[in-house]
Amino acid sequence: MDQPVAITHAAEPPGLGTVATAMDATSPLIEIRALFKSYRRGDQIIPVLNDISLDIAHGEFTALMGPSGSGKSTLLNLIAGIDKPDSGQLRIAGLDISRLSETALADWRAAHIGFIFQFYNLMPVLTALENVELPLMLTSLSRSERRERAALTLAMVGLDDRMDHYPSELSGGQQQRVAIARAIVTDPTLIVADEPTGDLDRRSAEDVLALLRRLNEEIGKTVLMVTHDANAAKSARRLIHLDKGELSTEQSGQS
Ligand code: ADP
Ligand code: MG
Repeated sequence: MDQPVAITHAAEPPGLGTVATAMDATSPLIEIRALFKSYRRGDQIIPVLNDISLDIAHGEFTALMGPSGSGKSTLLNLIAGIDKPDSGQLRIAGLDISRLSETALADWRAAHIGFIFQFYNLMPVLTALENVELPLMLTSLSRSERRERAALTLAMVGLDDRMDHYPSELSGGQQQRVAIARAIVTDPTLIVADEPTGDLDRRSAEDVLALLRRLNEEIGKTVLMVTHDANAAKSARRLIHLDKGELSTEQSGQS
C-alpha cells in the first residue's frame, strides 16, 4: 500500500447517533443468545441458524469460518441489522436490535455498522470520493464537511491520489479499499466484512487484511470477518467455526 496516513479517530462525530445506546465497555459488544433463523421457500422451511449463542467483546478481531451454505452470511446479516431473526436475543452495545422496527433498525444500522462486501458494491457512476461521501448524506454534516471527511478517510486507506477515479478505473484491491473507506467514514461501532478478500489476488488481499488489522489495533475497532481463506483468518485474533447452522469449535487464531 502506498504511504497510508496514520489512522486516527475523526475529530468530529458524524452526527448519526439517533439511536442512543448505553456503551458499557465491561459487557460484551455483541451478545447473542438462542438465536434461530430459517428461510421460507414456498411451503418449505429451510432452517439456517440453530440455537446460536455467542459473545464478542469490544475491540476483538474475529474470523468466522465454515463450509459454503453453513449460514455465515446469514449470521453476519443478522448482526448487521440487514435481516431479522425468527427468535432469540441479538444484543449489540446493550440494545436488542431484533426488537427494533424496520425504520429504527435502518437508523441504527447507518449509525453503528460499517459493512464490507466481497464484490465491493461501489456505485459505478460515482467517483471514489463520492462513494465514500454517500453514507454521510444521512448526517447533518454540510457538503464541504462531508467532502473533507471523505477525503481524509480515503487518505487513511492510501488512496488520496485516486479520489476522482471511477470504480472501473481502479483495481479490485483499490476498489475494496474505497469500500473500506466508505464503511468507516461514519466511525461505526462495528465493522463487518463478508469474504472481503474473496475476489482479490494475494497481494491485494494482504493490503486489505493489513488495513483491517490497523483499524482494529490502532483505533480499536471491533471487526467481524467471514472468510473461506485460512490465511486471511490468521489476521484475526479469534476464530469461530460455523457448521450446519451451529457454532461447533472455537479456537484461537494467531495474533
Ligand atoms: P454461507 O454464507 O455460509 O455460505 P448463507 O448464510 O448464505 O451461507 O446461507 C445459508 C443457507 O441459507 C443456504 O442453504 C442458503 O441457500 C440459504 N439462504 C440464504 N439466504 C436465503 C434467502 N434469502 N432465501 C432462502 N434461502 C436462503
Ligand atoms: Mg456467504
